Amino acid sequence: MKLYAPSTIKEIEERYGFRFTKSLGQNFLVSKHIIDCIMEDSFISQEDLVIEIGPGIGVLTEEAARRAKRVIAIEIDKALIPILEDTLKEYDNVTILNQDVLKTDLEELIQNCHAREKGGKVRIIGNLPYYITTPIIMKILEDGVSADSITVMMQKEVADRIKSAPGKKTYGALSVAVQYYCTVQQICSAPKEAFVPKPKVDSSVLRLDIRTEHPVALKSEKLFFTCVKAGFGQRRKTLLNSLTGVAGLSKEAVREILKLAVIDPVRRSETLNLQEFAELANAMADYKNNHHQE
Ligand code: SAM
Repeated sequence: MKLYAPSTIKEIEERYGFRFTKSLGQNFLVSKHIIDCIMEDSFISQEDLVIEIGPGIGVLTEEAARRAKRVIAIEIDKALIPILEDTLKEYDNVTILNQDVLKTDLEELIQNCHAREKGGKVRIIGNLPYYITTPIIMKILEDGVSADSITVMMQKEVADRIKSAPGKKTYGALSVAVQYYCTVQQICSAPKEAFVPKPKVDSSVLRLDIRTEHPVALKSEKLFFTCVKAGFGQRRKTLLNSLTGVAGLSKEAVREILKLAVIDPVRRSETLNLQEFAELANAMADYKNNHHQE
C-alpha cells in the first residue's frame, strides 16, 4: 500500500471514518518526491533514534522505520492511533505515542532509548502542524533537547524568517534565536499540491543542525535574548530608543552601552548580526556589573 497516494487517504477515511481536523494542522503529504527529499537530507542511519512530530497516517514514519534503529512518533489526534497501528504494523521498531508534543518531555524519551551510548544520533523529523511550528522548534532548542538535527516541513514564510540574514525584511528575533542554536539549511520547497487537503500557503523544509558549541561567547544568555526581543519588538526604532527602558536602563546608560559595544546608536536591530547582538549583550552585562544592577 502506497501510504502517500491520495487514494490511500480516501480509503482510510472510509474504512476508519477518519475526518481531517483543520485546527490540528492536518495536511498530509502526497508527494513521494518531497518525502524522499526529507528522508535523504535527514541523514538517518541504522543506529539512529528518530523522533517524529505529528505522523498523521505514517508516510514519513514508515520511511524512517526502514532507515533507523528506532522511531518514536508523537501524534495528538486519538483518531489516528488505530490507523497508525495498522499502517505501521510491519515495523517492530516504531513506538506511537498519543500525546501533545508541546507537553512531551523529549529529553526523557531520548535518555530512555540510550541511542547515543550505542553510537547513534538523534534525528527529529516531521511535517509540522503549522499552527505551532515556532513553539515546537523553540521548545526543543530552549529546553536543550540533546538531538543532533531537526528536519521539518513548515510554512514557507516561517522558514524564510528562520533562515534570514541581517538587513532583510524577514530577519527578526526568530532568525537570531534559531541561528544561535543551529546552523540552518533549506532542503526543498513544497507546493500546495504536495498535500491533502491543500493548504493555503506554500511550504519549505529546513534542516536545523543543532550546534555543539554556541557561535558567540555570552556573559549572560538571558541578557542576549532580552536585547534581541527588545530590539525587534520595536524594529523601526533606532537601537538607542528601542533599548531604552530595557532592564531598567536609562537612555544615557544605553548610549554608554552602545559605545562600549562599538555600535552606532542610530542603527536598527534588523542590521545587527549574531556577533553584534552578542557584543551588545556583553556590554550591557559589563555595564550592569559596574553599576551594581541586577
Ligand atoms: N506527517 C504527516 C504527513 O506528512 O502526512 C502528517 C503531517 S500534518 C501537517 C501534522 C500532524 O501533526 C497531524 O497528524 C496532526 O494531528 C499532528 N499534530 C497537531 N498538533 C500536534 C501536537 N500538539 N502534538 C503532536 N501532534 C500534533
